Amino acid sequence: MSEKMQAYIDEAESVLLHTYNRYQIVLDHGKGVHLYDMDGKEYLDFVSGIAVFALGYGNEEYNQALKDQIDKVIHTSNYYYNAPAIEAAKKIKEVSGMDRVFFTNSGAEAVEGAIKAARKYAYLKDGSTDHEIIAMNHSFHGRTMGALSVTGNPHYREAFEPMIGNIRFADFNDLESVKAQITDKTCAIMFETVQGEGGIYPVHEDFLRGVRKICDEKDILLILDEIQCGMGRTGYMYAWQKYGVKPDIMTTAKALGCGVPVGAFLLNEKVGAASLVAGDHGTTYGGNPLACAAICKVMELFEKEHVLDNVREVSAYLEEKLDEIAESCEDIETRRGSGLMQGLVFKKPVGEIITKALDHGLILINAGTNIIRFVPPLIISKQDVDAMIAILKECI
Ligand SMILES: *Cc1c(COP(=O)(O)O)cnc(C)c1O
Repeated sequence: MSEKMQAYIDEAESVLLHTYNRYQIVLDHGKGVHLYDMDGKEYLDFVSGIAVFALGYGNEEYNQALKDQIDKVIHTSNYYYNAPAIEAAKKIKEVSGMDRVFFTNSGAEAVEGAIKAARKYAYLKDGSTDHEIIAMNHSFHGRTMGALSVTGNPHYREAFEPMIGNIRFADFNDLESVKAQITDKTCAIMFETVQGEGGIYPVHEDFLRGVRKICDEKDILLILDEIQCGMGRTGYMYAWQKYGVKPDIMTTAKALGCGVPVGAFLLNEKVGAASLVAGDHGTTYGGNPLACAAICKVMELFEKEHVLDNVREVSAYLEEKLDEIAESCEDIETRRGSGLMQGLVFKKPVGEIITKALDHGLILINAGTNIIRFVPPLIISKQDVDAMIAILKECI
């Protein structure tokens, strides 16, 4: 490592709050599926900023769209209309089949909005303020207090108790476990369609259908968190579309702006018409013209570059190659995942392999201590998969 890069890292540790154990590189710029550090070293990126940079780095059309919007206006506040937000909302509605859009600045904020919409919907029905939400063990929904309250990982929550009240936890993909938590106060059941941080667990179709049925029978709202698994990652624009089981409320973020911080929560007409109204919820930045110009261009490029087709084709190849490694390596338990959201489950911690990969010019990330997570840009090719596999084999 150059002295310059080391100096930057030392400086970072003296000014930034140490909430991350960062890898020892300073990233400088990117091109396609590659990132480059300050010393000019190239890395093949199989993380994409944690499932964010779906279109790869340095996409000229995307960059130009942002530059154009910057020259027009970046921010106006939500007291006025702006064309990019209207276009972005129309597009999201079209690809999701949901009816109402509220833009946020992050995933966690989208989760906050989803919780508020669900509580308000229930409140308007019976006027009571003790409704319950069922969330899943091993879930991850973000770091703000509301999102943390529905995150099923005590390790993230403990020091920050008390959480918001009336949250019950059930086991993901276990319908009986969910049923056991339902009371006459239940207003929503929420989960990630593919659990990400918790270990790359795709939802089982019968579980999803089973929960939807219970929700329909009892007028409980189904909230799906598509922040990581949405936006094409599974080969469907939103992961639930594979099963046609539609949520009442949905969250989206990460790849939505492909790097510009933006998220959204979406409501179906039933919830949209009977929950949040003027004065109930707001945000200064959410859905500003710059963020929404990014969304518009992302949506356009997804279509133009046939991103979903690429995900389906390349993910089948990635699965095949990861399965080969899993079979040939004693330390690996299994491979699981959906589309370009894959996990290689080891019998031991994977930190060392990830650090080694970085030395070899490959960016990987874990999901929990024993799982290597693969969430590359959605534009990767089979050759990129081959290049990744070759480095990974060396590091294992
Ligand atoms: C990343 C993530 C969040 C939180 O998003 P932030 O933008 O980090 O606040 C919420 N839910 C899921 C499933 C995520 O993967």
